Amino acid sequence: MIKRRRTRQIKIGNVAIGGGAPVSIQSMTTTDTRDVDATVDQIAELAAAGCEIVRVTVKDMESAKCLKDIRRGIAAPLVADIHFDYRVALESAKHADCIRLNPGNISKPEQVRQVIAACKDRGIPIRVGANSGSIQRGRGKAAKIKGVSGLSADMIAGVLDYLKIFEKEKFYDIKISLKAAHIYETVMAYRALARECDYPFHLGITASGLPFAGTIKSSIGIGALLLDGIGDTFRVSLTADPVEEVRVGREIVKSLGLRNFGPVIMSCPTCGRAEIDIITLTERIEARVKDFPKPLDIAVMGCVVNGPGEAAGADIGIAGGKGVGVIFRKGKIVKTVKEKQLLSEFMKELEKLL
Ligand code: SF4
Repeated sequence: MIKRRRTRQIKIGNVAIGGGAPVSIQSMTTTDTRDVDATVDQIAELAAAGCEIVRVTVKDMESAKCLKDIRRGIAAPLVADIHFDYRVALESAKHADCIRLNPGNISKPEQVRQVIAACKDRGIPIRVGANSGSIQRGRGKAAKIKGVSGLSADMIAGVLDYLKIFEKEKFYDIKISLKAAHIYETVMAYRALARECDYPFHLGITASGLPFAGTIKSSIGIGALLLDGIGDTFRVSLTADPVEEVRVGREIVKSLGLRNFGPVIMSCPTCGRAEIDIITLTERIEARVKDFPKPLDIAVMGCVVNGPGEAAGADIGIAGGKGVGVIFRKGKIVKTVKEKQLLSEFMKELEKLL
């Protein structure tokens, strides 16, 4: 069982972050925010895929003003992502459920204080989101942060200095992210910052690439931190349709047992011993059960070596034999059927279980 880091709790719209709340899944739109209809449509797609918090980029005042209509058109909590211009943040704070500020490009204390005051007025939180690409280099050395050096230390030093502005204003409605493109630097930075404060963390491996490599990098980085109990919400960043980010994100928390998003399939890798077509069978089972709401362990195993043990240990399972499959339900053999009927018989047994 993963022991989660104790943090303060904030709320983005109706979604709680930190303080023991479920780890929530985020994504970001790829539309031009000034195109309200396209942005609302994409947010609806993301929400349908299971995205719990949506971020939109707000690159200018026109985009900020569009947030009002976007907010009206959606149900999901809305985060406005701001860089460079604090006035855009002030306008966005009138409509969004959270403001993301980058300490690397909105840093003047008097400007940050105005954004804090606007968010305080509306009771919305701020994400302090540091990125390795925009952080001031070299300040980590002087800060002497325990257990980190280089880029990780620079990001933490930047964030800790930035937080002083907020804490001076008695504003604690904050979550923090420290994103670098390299997994090691990112993980080290979050681990070290976790020792320095109790704000909830937004996790991510930035610029992680196309879906194949990006899924691996994100699963390693985000997964390592979640296994440490660190992380309260996250975005998987992929160079792809953002719906893919949500699918990967859900699989990460489901695999770690942090969220119940329906069945988990354990299928064997197959080998020369397999006596039935495990790959096709598993693909077909996955297609049939992917939208089932109930958490279930499903085992699909190719032969008698590990098959009966794994299949019996799952809620429902199949162990392959010579042209046949043995179906297990809650640890007991319920039937042995020919390979051709295996999928349909398995689905009947699954229905009984549901
Ligand atoms: S369960 Fe059997 S078929 Fe599957 S990988 Fe193990 S030995 Fe091979």
